Amino acid sequence: MSVNKKSCSLVIISGPSGSGKTSICNELTKNSKVKQSVSYTTRSPRDGEREGIDYCFVERDDFEKLIKKNKFIEYAEYCGHLYGTPIGPIREVVGEKIIFLLAIDVKGAMQIMEKRPDAIYIFIMAPDDETLKLRLKNRLTEDDNIINKRFMVAKEEMKSSKHYDYCVINDKLDDAVKEIEGILQI
Ligand code: 5GP
Repeated sequence: MSVNKKSCSLVIISGPSGSGKTSICNELTKNSKVKQSVSYTTRSPRDGEREGIDYCFVERDDFEKLIKKNKFIEYAEYCGHLYGTPIGPIREVVGEKIIFLLAIDVKGAMQIMEKRPDAIYIFIMAPDDETLKLRLKNRLTEDDNIINKRFMVAKEEMKSSKHYDYCVINDKLDDAVKEIEGILQI
């Protein structure tokens, strides 16, 4: 890996819905050296999700206005909803001695790869299809139709793992977190 990559503070974590990205990022951000971007989305909040912490929840019209104002470093449509990473906080962390995490889908990660080849790209996978489906079902926040849609998208997303610097299989959360901490040397 190049020297640029080693010293970079921007880390992109992608992987299918159900791969466990959110849990992994929640563990990683317990370290004070690690901060996470808060994305904008047009989907509705799930139970327990907090405005401005888990996401900034906005109407589609407002999201489209932000696109026109170039407020996103990337954005993508995922299962009928828009998701985007605000560019401001990324600019602010330039040169800071922290790790800045973006947990985003594959389409968004591909956009950032063009703009920030210096970032570190990590793809998270569930150990197998059965586990992935079970994890999607266990969330209980989505109906079967949405779960199946997400599963189909997951199968497609998995084909993109080859573009990432690292691929981490999330079988046991602790092990996956340790592996990533090793990669990031934190
Ligand atoms: P969920 O609805 O489960 O929170 O997220 C659905 C997908 O959108 C996940 O793969 C999640 O990582 C991704 N996502 C979350 N925020 C962003 C973002 O800012 N940009 C993009 N491209 N994807 C995002």
